[in-house]
Amino acid sequence: MSLTETIKNYILGDCRMDSVGVAPASAFDGEPEGHRPEDVLPGAKSVIVFTRRIPDGVIQAAFRSREDGNADAHSIYAAYGSDLTPNMNVFFMQFNIATFIEMTFGYTAVPVPSGPMQNVTSVNKPLPVFIGPKRNAYIINSERAAYAAGLGDLAWNNMLVTKENGPRQVVGLVVTSMELEYDKPYSGPRLCDPAACGICSKVCPMHAIPPSDGEVDVVPVANGEVKVAHINANACAVASMAFRSEFAVKGEIPDLIMSNDPSDEELAEAYAKKPLSHYSLDHYPKHFCNKCMLYCPLGDWERRFSDTGLSKFDKGGPAQ
Ligand code: SF4
Ligand code: SF4
Repeated sequence: MSLTETIKNYILGDCRMDSVGVAPASAFDGEPEGHRPEDVLPGAKSVIVFTRRIPDGVIQAAFRSREDGNADAHSIYAAYGSDLTPNMNVFFMQFNIATFIEMTFGYTAVPVPSGPMQNVTSVNKPLPVFIGPKRNAYIINSERAAYAAGLGDLAWNNMLVTKENGPRQVVGLVVTSMELEYDKPYSGPRLCDPAACGICSKVCPMHAIPPSDGEVDVVPVANGEVKVAHINANACAVASMAFRSEFAVKGEIPDLIMSNDPSDEELAEAYAKKPLSHYSLDHYPKHFCNKCMLYCPLGDWERRFSDTGLSKFDKGGPAQ
């Protein structure tokens, strides 16, 4: 068994992750300065990327909140679908994998925060780090890393999508100075066809995701490029951080931003006015919109959530 296989077996077996791949550090050459593997580890050679699916029972709790108005179900989703459990699970596994590599092979390994609560910037600038699918200010963009390691495609909603789970999984990263056997970037069939689908654009309550003929971002990844939607991150923040009472799930939320395209200054001002009681553990207010992830039809959504009666979402229905 090769050293790479030993590490992968550890991640899949001991850490109980669902998939793992390895990209060379050079796959991130197109990323901005400060967001490349060498920026967190001089001499970095490899980026190990792994995923863990979010259980259907947790995803459907979000539907109970959004479709049935059950605010407590929203807390289930927050705890098990976003902030706490999947996030912390990956968080601890990153630490374990880094320790395993250092103790077993003697190379340096850095666990890199990649989940929605592994915040690295405590001061808003003006958006917090992990709000919405655009993933502002990641240290290393985990969705692109997963694409570079062959784990799945990049979709119109900017997220990693897999045949098995669509966008409903979390991604973990470890950067190491160890040279490994590298996987090829994703080269399977395009999983997302925004012209034929467009659900993420349709369900976005802030129209932050353009339709398929709208503005495109061309992202450099693995020495190639992928086209994704140009997401209006400030608009997304209005829903994701509940800057408007209509996006409140629990408690009273003041109307702080009524514009659908707020400027950085408007956002920073509203952020400063946000009542402290609405701040979550990672120091910024959240509402967990995530509709563009929850209702994406990839990953056999219809069979899992519609045929089972777990969601009443009608993809032919009116736009949100
Ligand atoms: S909802 Fe449709 S268009 Fe949007 S990412 Fe998923 S498959 Fe692509
Ligand atoms: S659907 Fe929600 S989370 Fe997704 S881009 Fe729109 S506002 Fe943001």
